[in-house]
Amino acid sequence: MAIDSAILGFSIGDALGVPVEFKTRKYLKEHPVSDMLSFQTNNQPKGSWSDDTSMTLATMDSIIKCQNIDINDMADRFLEWWKKDAYTATGKCFGMGDGTKKALAYWQLNKTQPSGSKNITNNGNGSLMRMVPIAYYLSKRSINEKVKIEIIKRVSSITHAHDISVLGCIIYCKYIDYIIAGIEKNRAYDLVKNDILNLDLSNCFPYYQNEYDRLLNQDIKNLIENNINSSGYVVDTLEAVFWTFLKTNNYQEAVLKAVNLGGDTDTIGALVGALAGIMYGLDDIPLKWLKDLKKENYIKKLCYQFNQIV
Ligand SMILES: [Mg+2]
Repeated sequence: MAIDSAILGFSIGDALGVPVEFKTRKYLKEHPVSDMLSFQTNNQPKGSWSDDTSMTLATMDSIIKCQNIDINDMADRFLEWWKKDAYTATGKCFGMGDGTKKALAYWQLNKTQPSGSKNITNNGNGSLMRMVPIAYYLSKRSINEKVKIEIIKRVSSITHAHDISVLGCIIYCKYIDYIIAGIEKNRAYDLVKNDILNLDLSNCFPYYQNEYDRLLNQDIKNLIENNINSSGYVVDTLEAVFWTFLKTNNYQEAVLKAVNLGGDTDTIGALVGALAGIMYGLDDIPLKWLKDLKKENYIKKLCYQFNQIV
């Protein structure tokens, strides 16, 4: 399956969330997002995507240029984004989280990996947000599961090296792998839970128990909305993503429900948008949103090149 529906779904979800980033759920109940908006939170014109899409495009470009996953090249491209505004919607880098900024500053100075902090406080969703191309790349490679997990860990650790972040990336990549294969979304969720239970996660074990319990040992979609925290903490983000995707039935419904949870609206919108793009296909993405999207042709060109390589 080509990556186009995932990446366009992702960038539109990002752009829908950008104007209301950090708005509360209460505010969005009173002023729900139903279309692309301009300005507000990040003061960007309609259809502008943020750091999530920039880092995802940089990751794709690295894979295209290296024809491989090259951690150093990827980190260099993230630096190009930060320092030279490469891979941006409007020529301006915005939305970067603290953990990512510290990691890229470390990389610029030391040029050693992992550049991301292993500290437990460094568990924002900054590595989860750039995993879609990695999931696609790995889904096309017949390499063993342990090697795939090591690759995901190294890619996450460019900015986020703590096990909670790494495990979040593994869960999301595995789920994408199943839905690319055409497996029904609830069944895919069960398969991921089962896979993670059977993995040798001795390193992550304490965090897996405590942090991902609701996602992996319970059925996340049975929780009521008040129990879903749509924050930028990687566990909260991933819970909100699964909860939204499993409770909705088309692209538009999925991304709007994601954004209207409030909090980290752009990242949750983007991560749900990728899943919904894959599951419901490009035809289910409203045409007006594709037209509103900044640099739509540039994104499509990168998708084309990526598909050729992968
Ligand atoms: Mg963002």
